[in-house]
Parts: sequence; structure tokens; C-alpha cells
Amino acid sequence: MPVKNMIQPNIDMVRYYACGYCVNHMGFIVKNPKEKKRAFPAGVYLLHHVKYGYILFDTGYSERNYKCGWKGMLYRLLNPTHITKKETLAEQLRKDGIAAKDIRYIILSHLHPDHIGGLKDFPNAKLVCSMDCFKQYKRGRLFDLIFTDLLPDDFEKRLYRVRKYDSKYAFFDGYDLFRDGSVILTDISGHSAGQMGAYLWEYRIFLGADAAWGLEFLGRAEEMSKPARLVQYDFRAYQKTMETIRKMMDARVSVYLSHEKNVKKDLIHE
Ligand SMILES: [Zn+2]
Repeated sequence: MPVKNMIQPNIDMVRYYACGYCVNHMGFIVKNPKEKKRAFPAGVYLLHHVKYGYILFDTGYSERNYKCGWKGMLYRLLNPTHITKKETLAEQLRKDGIAAKDIRYIILSHLHPDHIGGLKDFPNAKLVCSMDCFKQYKRGRLFDLIFTDLLPDDFEKRLYRVRKYDSKYAFFDGYDLFRDGSVILTDISGHSAGQMGAYLWEYRIFLGADAAWGLEFLGRAEEMSKPARLVQYDFRAYQKTMETIRKMMDARVSVYLSHEKNVKKDLIHE
């Protein structure tokens, strides 16, 4: 169970949604895998802040992931993807009585297709990503896997770029988004340039995005296959991030990654 730090927290809901998934051969990821294939759900976390309303951490896949031209086809060839309309984030939220227009902020851990697929469904949200992530998007290299087809036309206009990390409360260098300790964005570069995690200090919960593809991979960087190392933006930084996450877990922080299996829906509820 997460440990509460305060009697009246600012965040009163943390909820998990799986929005489609991809399937990978484990042999591509680790040497001598125990299982042949693994499904990787595209996980999204919904937060509710008593003052700032609904906040998303990423947006998962949507049917738009099937309409990204030849780049999208290549991605799906290497990374078979499954998503139906029913599984999209907007649709699952609607079923839970939350309108897309009521999402006020979207934290983008990074801009890979399984994290921004649903982005166009939330026109009123302010978007947040790191400056390094923004620069990577601007460079527009194919290998960085940022499909601009998935970004709304006003992406840059709505985007707040985190420039400096000045909070020391999150194991990593952090940026205290609302200046109340509720959501501390952290620099977990490695997997992509400027990837961000979110430390929910009030509950000692850490949303770790793709810092690893699953908790079972933590501490096993040495076993990772060559292709799996090569797809990381900076493998050394990736390893360092994984080590820090292990330390967090030793300090009783509950870590939730984006592609974890069997995450329960309500992590924190009113
Ligand atoms: Zn990624």
C-alpha cells in the first residue's frame, strides 16, 4: 500500500487505464528469455487534483496509430499493435463519466506513438513535456520515433516545456509542477531524450513511463539484447535511471511503469 504523507492530499485520485497493447518477442529484448512473447499494454494514469482538476500522464494508443503512413506501418511490423475504439482512453473515460473536454493537463513522458496516440482527443488540455523532449521532436529524425500525425495542429501552442529541474524531493532531479509537492516531474532520460516521470510525493508513488519496459527488467540491463539496447536513446543514462528506480523501490516507493501488466484500476480513490 502506498504511504500517505499528508492528511489532506492535493491529489485525490490516481487511476490506471490500459489503452491497447503491442506484442513483442522476448528474444528481441533479453538474452535467454523465460517466455516467448509478452504483451505490453499502453498504460495511462489519470490523476485528479483538488484545485487543478483532471491530469493525464500520457494517452496510450488510439485508432489513429493505424493511420501514420509508411512510418506507422514499419513501426507496427516490428511492434504488432492492437487497439479498438472501445479501448481508447477517450472512450474509457467517457464510460467512467469523464468528458474529454474536462482534461486540463496532459503530462507527456515522451513522444513515442504508444504515449501520444490519444492526444488529439483532448483539445482543452495544456500539454507538458521536457525541453529535451521538445528538441528531439524538432530535430525530426526517423529513429526517434515521433510521429507528427499523432500531434494536434496546435501542439506547440499548448505546450509547456520544462526547462529546469529544481526540486530535490523525488530521488531524481525534479520539477514541482503545481508548486505544492503533488506532482514532481522528474528527469528520467535514457529511453528517449528528456523522458519525464512523475513522483506523487503525497503517496510515494512514482510513474516511471518507459524507464524500463516492466519491473521485471529492472536490474537486468546486462541481459538486454543488442537491438533492445540500440533502441534506447542513451543506454548508459537508461541504466542509471533503472538503478535509481531500484533505490526508490528499496525506499518503499510504489513504482508504476507504462507497460506493466495487471495494474489495478484504482490506485488512489476518494
Ligand atoms: Zn517509449
